[in-house]
Amino acid sequence: MSNRVTELFGIRYPIVQGGMIWCSGWKLATAVSNAGGLGLIGGGSMYPDVFREHIRKARAATQKPFGVNLPLIYPQVDDMVNIVIEEGVRIVFTSAGNPKKYTSMFKQQGMVVVHVIANQKFAVKCEETGVDAIVAEGFEAGGHNGMEETTTLALIPLIRKSVKVPLIAAGGIASGRAMLAAFALGAEGVQIGSRFAASEESSAHTAFKQKIVEARDGDTKLTLKSIIPVRLIKNEFVRKVEELEARGASREELLELLGRGRAKLGMFEGNTEEGELEIGQVSALIDEIRPAGEIVEEIMREFHQAKQELAGEKF
Ligand code: NDP
Ligand code: NDP
Repeated sequence: MSNRVTELFGIRYPIVQGGMIWCSGWKLATAVSNAGGLGLIGGGSMYPDVFREHIRKARAATQKPFGVNLPLIYPQVDDMVNIVIEEGVRIVFTSAGNPKKYTSMFKQQGMVVVHVIANQKFAVKCEETGVDAIVAEGFEAGGHNGMEETTTLALIPLIRKSVKVPLIAAGGIASGRAMLAAFALGAEGVQIGSRFAASEESSAHTAFKQKIVEARDGDTKLTLKSIIPVRLIKNEFVRKVEELEARGASREELLELLGRGRAKLGMFEGNTEEGELEIGQVSALIDEIRPAGEIVEEIMREFHQAKQELAGEKF
């Protein structure tokens, strides 16, 4: 299949694997790229030297295009930007911050730059800064999330009418049917996180992957809104946050409970009660840990099948 997103990245299918902290190492990124999608290395959880190592390993493991995700609130973002340029990475997705400064730096290097947003205002700003494409991520998504709580169903058409650049939909998408729905709303590609977090190649701990498989509807919650909204699986840590919030705790008290490295504790070290487990609502639909390449193939098969079925419907 060919459209503006496949052409922009030089890939076969318009499926981008989210650059998720603690899940998206080089193994996952290259498994997705080798299957025809676009794999991303999630830089947010990596120290600069680890990040460089993952880029090099990815280059050795695939001939296909791959990219990196850089959250702009990362503590040593300038070091990471230099590594991306030094290592000759061609595709960068930025998130969680203002893309103005870095987009022009990356564009000077001839790179493809994509930024992740969750509302109309930032989508318009992004286009003005010269990004090549936008990821619009809805309320259903796992991990860090927009303040506005706009769902993917409402967000995608809104962003579609607000910008001209290629649009990649994210949040709540884990199947070919959901991908087709996103295309019906005006997206030209999808970014998928949760489904790949529970893949064999994800670097997350097996205990976290198992929690994703077991999750049912209602098992995730957008929490910590007074610090930074993040969708997590409900566990002992989330219950402690709720208790504090119910008592009207201050931001400082919540920050003290959060401490440092909660996401690593839950997602990488497998402490599923005390750690942060960042995952989307669509985890309710995920019931098996599978190889990432098979996931890509299945999504595309279902996408085409659902498209044919709809074309044959008599409305
Ligand atoms: P590598 O073995 O090539 O890992 C390279 C380096 O990156 C290691 O230092 C690794 O940490 C670290 N790393 C891997 N993924 C991430 C990430 N998403 N964010 C930040 N740092 C990361 O590649 P893989 O990551 O694919 O393999 C990791 C290995 O670790 C596997 O063999 C897996 O079984 C194992 N693992 C162990 C866990 C644990 O809690 N003990 C949890 C998850 C995976 P490190 O040296 O700590 O693995
Ligand atoms: P914390 O401050 O609680 O902990 C920092 C964690 O990041 C530690 O586990 C640490 O590993 C690891 N780390 C990797 N590189 C660095 C570095 N250069 N300096 C300090 N710590 C580093 O942060 P969080 O776990 O909540 O978030 C980590 C990062 O992920 C942030 O940059 C955050 O913005 C980003 N993030 C982005 C998301 C998105 O864009 N959608 C979603 C979620 C997080 P160690 O314990 O080994 O020291």
